[in-house]
Amino acid sequence: MQNLFIHPAKIIVVGIAMVSKVFGCELDQKLEAIQLNRQNEAVLKALLPIVHCSFIPSKYEQVLMTQLRDSSSSTSEFRDASEKIAELLVNKVVECLPSKTVEIQTPVTTCQGVMLKSRIELVSVMRSGDAVLDVFMNHFPDANVSKFLIQRDELTAEARFKYMKISPELASGNPVVITEPMIATGGSLEMAISILKEKGVREENMIIASICAAPEGLIYLNERFPKIKVVMTSLDLRLNERKFIVPGLGDFGDRFFGTY
Ligand code: URA
Repeated sequence: MQNLFIHPAKIIVVGIAMVSKVFGCELDQKLEAIQLNRQNEAVLKALLPIVHCSFIPSKYEQVLMTQLRDSSSSTSEFRDASEKIAELLVNKVVECLPSKTVEIQTPVTTCQGVMLKSRIELVSVMRSGDAVLDVFMNHFPDANVSKFLIQRDELTAEARFKYMKISPELASGNPVVITEPMIATGGSLEMAISILKEKGVREENMIIASICAAPEGLIYLNERFPKIKVVMTSLDLRLNERKFIVPGLGDFGDRFFGTY
């Protein structure tokens, strides 16, 4: 017999799509649906399929995010929390990487183990991408590291390309992990991803590792690049009029590097 059960998340998403078509205000509708369903993994996953991790932070992630967000945290406390969060992000990235089963010999017996299928390429969107880069380099010591300097105009929040130095193996087909702790409008990432695509990197090979993401930026990236994967620690509430993430943690680069 045909299964007539339709998941409630699907009904909500189809409903949103229909309303959006009629009123032409997809962004607002999606934002509202995200706000209303902040604790509903199934709905959030249906709205933002590029996200490949839980939307609900673990208790330890909440503790570390609190240390990051607190404006009274010193530079060293901020660095300490971001390093620990980066360790947890590595774990989420690894969940997205192709792996294979191997047979190994322990000192006691043979058993099945797991190995990653290939090396990865790392891409850091400076400055804040550099803040978590060391942790990723520790876990992936043979990864080449490409760098982009894309600065946000302080007045308009528009992304401006300044510099890049890229690895010759970037488009080899290996997974490309992009470190960008803050997804606000998605503008800097849009520029970085577009350049990577021009250089021959396939969307489906890109994984963005982020700490704090605004729904606006995720919606935008989801629409522009539906095949990328994003992992993150916290889905925050929204952007403010200056395009800062709310509640957010302020300027990540300034707080990490002590330049505020
Ligand atoms: N970049 C930051 O560092 N913080 C924000 O809130 C937004 C973008």
